[in-house]
Amino acid sequence: MTAILITGGSRGIGRATAVLAARRGWNVAFTYASDAAAAAQTLEAIRAEGADGLAIRADCAIEAEVIDSFAQGRARFGALDGVVVNAGIVAPPAPLADMSLERLTRVFDTNVLGAYLTAREAARTLPRDRGGQGGAIVIVSSAAARLGSPGEYVDYAGSKGALDTLTIGLAKELGPGGVRVNAVRPGLIETDIHASGGQPDRAWRLGTGTPLGRPGTAEEVAEAILYLLDAASSYVTGALLDVSGGR
Ligand code: NAP
Repeated sequence: MTAILITGGSRGIGRATAVLAARRGWNVAFTYASDAAAAAQTLEAIRAEGADGLAIRADCAIEAEVIDSFAQGRARFGALDGVVVNAGIVAPPAPLADMSLERLTRVFDTNVLGAYLTAREAARTLPRDRGGQGGAIVIVSSAAARLGSPGEYVDYAGSKGALDTLTIGLAKELGPGGVRVNAVRPGLIETDIHASGGQPDRAWRLGTGTPLGRPGTAEEVAEAILYLLDAASSYVTGALLDVSGGR
């Protein structure tokens, strides 16, 4: 059985990915920031699919916790075959002129530093020239990277732009070691992230204006992530896959 590690796997897109991966035969280690109850529910859902699961409390922006989460995943499952760099946050809508240093630091620490630290551990673990067996990394960017999110969160949009660039560069770095690196760029997806940014109705309010006329579900994004993890995408690397209903 193959194994993956997902950051921010306790809720939303991460949870949907964890459950779908378990259904498709992967064992799943996942991290979360603080919501132990949600993590326990996700663990239960993974096990209900017949897979083994491991919930790890680890802040993706803290190096030692990221390193430890990979060590725990390997200790439980042997080698890891896939890593989903998913954990991310938004802050309340504001123009750049009104963003505090504290907010900018929190968004960039979680979304950029956290993703780079996670991708770095994957790059130290998966490639065949580093003792691994190859595999796939999927980075969860956002349509915001190309839209810019003016008046709402240009900080968040910029943090996701960095992840698009990371995807392109890391795919070239790790291809020779047998590791594919791709990104999904979700659009408006129904998860808690909008409420955490103070706009619980955002996905539906804006989603009805997309070409498909609705927001997407976490499960629809999970399907794209699983495609990029799976051998079905064996010749795909460095790709940025929009999952945004045409937005
Ligand atoms: P969500 O429902 O708010 O879930 C966020 C997950 O990340 C939770 O499991 C949370 O853990 C975890 N997390 C937050 N900060 C963390 C940290 N510092 N370290 C480790 N884990 C952390 O969010 P989502 O909507 O599923 O978003 C997942 C990813 O998709 C993000 O990168 C987001 O930017 C991206 N995305 C989402 C949308 C959308 O419309 N939903 C659109 C484009 C891109 P706790 O449960 O412990 O808080």
